[in-house]
Amino acid sequence: MRILKFGGSSVGSPDRIRNVVNLIAGSRERDHSLAVVVSAIQGITNELLEAGALASHCDPAWRETYTSIVEKHTGCAEALLSGARRAEATDYAAKTAEDLAVALHEIFSAGRISPAQSDHIMSFGERLSAYIVSQALRERGMRGEYLDAREVVKTDDNFGRARVHLDESYREIMARIAGYGHEALPVITGFIGATSLGQTTTLGRGGSDYTAAIFGAALQASEIEIWTDVNGVLTADPKKVESAFSIQAMTYEEAMEMAHFGARVIYPPTIRPALHKRIPVRILNSFNPGFAGTVIRGDLPPKDGFLATGLSSLEQIALLRVEGSGMIGVAGVAARLFGALARHRINVIFVTQASSEHTICLAVESRFAAEAKLAIEEEFRAELGWGEIDDVLVEENLAIIAVVGENMRNTPGVAAKVFGALGKDGVNIVAIAQGSSELNISVVVSNKDEKLALGTLHDALFPRPEAASRSSHGKAFTQATGGLSLADDTR
Ligand code: ADP
Ligand code: ASP
Ligand code: MG
Repeated sequence: MRILKFGGSSVGSPDRIRNVVNLIAGSRERDHSLAVVVSAIQGITNELLEAGALASHCDPAWRETYTSIVEKHTGCAEALLSGARRAEATDYAAKTAEDLAVALHEIFSAGRISPAQSDHIMSFGERLSAYIVSQALRERGMRGEYLDAREVVKTDDNFGRARVHLDESYREIMARIAGYGHEALPVITGFIGATSLGQTTTLGRGGSDYTAAIFGAALQASEIEIWTDVNGVLTADPKKVESAFSIQAMTYEEAMEMAHFGARVIYPPTIRPALHKRIPVRILNSFNPGFAGTVIRGDLPPKDGFLATGLSSLEQIALLRVEGSGMIGVAGVAARLFGALARHRINVIFVTQASSEHTICLAVESRFAAEAKLAIEEEFRAELGWGEIDDVLVEENLAIIAVVGENMRNTPGVAAKVFGALGKDGVNIVAIAQGSSELNISVVVSNKDEKLALGTLHDALFPRPEAASRSSHGKAFTQATGGLSLADDTR
């Protein structure tokens, strides 16, 4: 069994969906047993959120956004399907659209939207796209079987980024898939799940990758394929570094690190179920299906000397500095600090502690900065009163850049190379951390320096021959785990 996941851009129009159907048909010739996971059509999740926001502000313009969403889907169904199947699909889309209209109308009447309602609204994107893809497969003679993941992916009620109850979900998935016949080709809604009370939840923006990994782990898949719009995982985001090129192979740990620090091509939690069950994850380009992409797996030969694998970056970060003599040598300060943030469900991206122990510095997403400051002040109210902690300082408009690579531990001078390059180009470094696994070195810089810093570091760490060029078509340079090689344009 293989899992094939198609992202929003891969199902962004009737032509793109036809391309997906071709890819699935071709894939099935090699391996009959497949399950497909799809995201919402490109842009639809944002439009759904926009419709919800308009309705919550009692703005009747929600109807226009709603109509545009519905038309995109009926347009796809009409372009892809014929005869009775088309009529059936249009009926289904109309009924689903009616449910969406009811939900939006409720929000409009109340003049506010709850996190649960927001998740419910977003779920329509994947529900519509998966249904259409399942029908498009039928049109091509395959037995597409629409599967609403809410029936099998069980989560807590942390709306917006629900935590999946993995063991329970695995059992549900196995039972459901076992019930389908050999010919069935499940087409599963990515991104969504449900609580034990049946409330719709979402797994976090970009979460369809995670759905694919959950199904892969439940079904002991031989491989999880993530089909997207770039040639696999590149040495940096190609939208930020033009010379970025494909990485041929990377370890689960490297992939986790790249994803954690902003490589949107993989949603961070995706790697865990795959790693746990040792299932290779392959990142492929649906616009360039012949290209081998990137394989993420555990059993890679060790690298010889330091070779950075890639660069990731996160924008809109805030740094919180907790300073004072009360931080020195007092056991449990860090535990209290993180405990306070965890209670507020604030994710800490990065931590450093000066060797004097006088300061702990941590990074969170900017949108959580004010709440994080309050949470820390509340936890340390007494210490602040006694003057043992001077202040909780917040610095905004920052970005984190992570240099990721397996072998940093064994190679002296990597940090010197990183800081030397940044210094030469005049990039001011606000903070530095090195993961204890030594899998990454991260630096905090001003948001406005992010692109410059990425470009500078990329030039310093990935020097490459003149003629090479990144491409989403045809040949491309790839970096194998042991060095640079020119990959053939074949799988
Ligand atoms: P999908 O809709 O297929 O899930 P996403 O937009 O979520 O696609 O992810 C693909 C995008 O991730 C790419 O278009 C690219 O801009 C971005 N990206 C960020 N970092 C990287 C990286 N290191 N390698 C490849 N793509 C990256
Ligand atoms: N459609 C969802 C989003 O836009 C999930 C995904 O694309 O993976 O975030
Ligand atoms: Mg994605």
